[in-house]
Amino acid sequence: MRKYVVVGIPGSGKSTQSTMLARDFDLVRISTGDIFRWHVRHHTKIGARVRRVMTAGQLVGDVLVETIMRDRLDEHDWNYGFVIDGFPRNRRQAEFFLESYDLDAVIYLDIPDSQVRHRVLSRRLCERCGVDYSLIESRPEQEDVCDVCADSLVTREDDTPEALTARLFDYHKDIDVVLELLGRKAGVFVIDASRDQGTVHAEILSRLGLPSPPSPGGSAGMAEQGR
Ligand code: AMP
Repeated sequence: MRKYVVVGIPGSGKSTQSTMLARDFDLVRISTGDIFRWHVRHHTKIGARVRRVMTAGQLVGDVLVETIMRDRLDEHDWNYGFVIDGFPRNRRQAEFFLESYDLDAVIYLDIPDSQVRHRVLSRRLCERCGVDYSLIESRPEQEDVCDVCADSLVTREDDTPEALTARLFDYHKDIDVVLELLGRKAGVFVIDASRDQGTVHAEILSRLGLPSPPSPGGSAGMAEQGR
């Protein structure tokens, strides 16, 4: 059983790296952002509650985040473990998580703010199947068309310069306390995430002492759907 949390600034590659790790080791990837986007896309009550907050780049309230995480982890479909992306984001969420769950490692994707703006503003998302593309590193074969389901690609509503500023502010405000708390339970592995995704993935495996997967992998950031 492997239990990992991936943390990092928006645009550091959390989604791509957690997806690659999940794929290679049969882990369940749990992304709070994907779960919320699923609710927005399907016009659920939760979606209606979080849409404006998300578009503005602000954080969803802790009570709702905790409920979503508890329900998701309670599904117990993670026979080989899980990799969490986008949670915990602050002290309260970290304490909530550590009260009930173990952790084997924290993967901290480190990248300067100056590099993320370009990355984030170059992201595209397939709303139907949740696959993430980067116009820098993992372009779709046909412009603005998903390679997997042929639906149109969109820009995330919160991938705007204004929302990114808000997200970076929240991130810097809370990252130290999150790392400090998680670090009490598990090793924190700081990975230079400014490099290409294959190199970053290889370093994560090596630092975590994980074997390389048999087949070459790790191309596009294949984000699973939130549910
Ligand atoms: P992400 O895909 O991780 O960048 O998350 C997208 C958005 O979903 C964030 O900007 C928040 O509005 C919301 N969100 C995701 N995870 C959390 C969390 N752990 N706590 C609060 N809000 C979250």
